[in-house]
Amino acid sequence: MKTLTKEMQAAITPTMALNLLDEGNKRFINNLKINRNLLQQANETSDGQHPFAVILSCIDSRTSVELIFDQGLGDVFSIRIAGNIINEDILGSMEFACKVAGSKFIVVLGHSKCGAIKGACDHVEMGNLTTLLNKIQPAVGDETSETENRNSSNSEFVEKVAVINVKRTVNAIMELSPILREMIERGEIGIIGGIHDIATGEVVFFDDTLIIN
Ligand SMILES: [Zn+2]
Repeated sequence: MKTLTKEMQAAITPTMALNLLDEGNKRFINNLKINRNLLQQANETSDGQHPFAVILSCIDSRTSVELIFDQGLGDVFSIRIAGNIINEDILGSMEFACKVAGSKFIVVLGHSKCGAIKGACDHVEMGNLTTLLNKIQPAVGDETSETENRNSSNSEFVEKVAVINVKRTVNAIMELSPILREMIERGEIGIIGGIHDIATGEVVFFDDTLIIN
């Protein structure tokens, strides 16, 4: 896998970008990761970076996107925050990644057994975390299929809220960033949501969140 150049990035379509991530995750779960010379990649990217995707994921120590998608230095922009929520700073980072730096694809990636989702399900309030968890509350409210034990002791409830949170985040990006929405409508970039199973390493993308024009 070669270090991405501007020309290589320009030749990647949104569909190809999604496939690159999907193939990388398949290598990861089959323990077939590419043997990269990261020091050489550090040198090759020292004068500029041309990542093909921007991925919003959780801070969880088990969910590093470069590892689970088997990517090297200079391949992806990684935005990480507890519960993979968005705010205007994160939207600004995505706009930089796509509009300025040429990335072709946006992924919103949640994961199983997410502590932030569990915290929101339990309505935890603690310092600055309260503000962050409040951004997940709409997903907790949208989950209506579980009627009993609507807290973190109910793992099915937690996983359902995590999925809803990802889908809400994809919709919010479309709604709150005219720059990204226009790029998606023009087919310049694509977007999808997905969930990463921390036990198996497998990422499942949600087809109903995919927008590639
Ligand atoms: Zn998490």
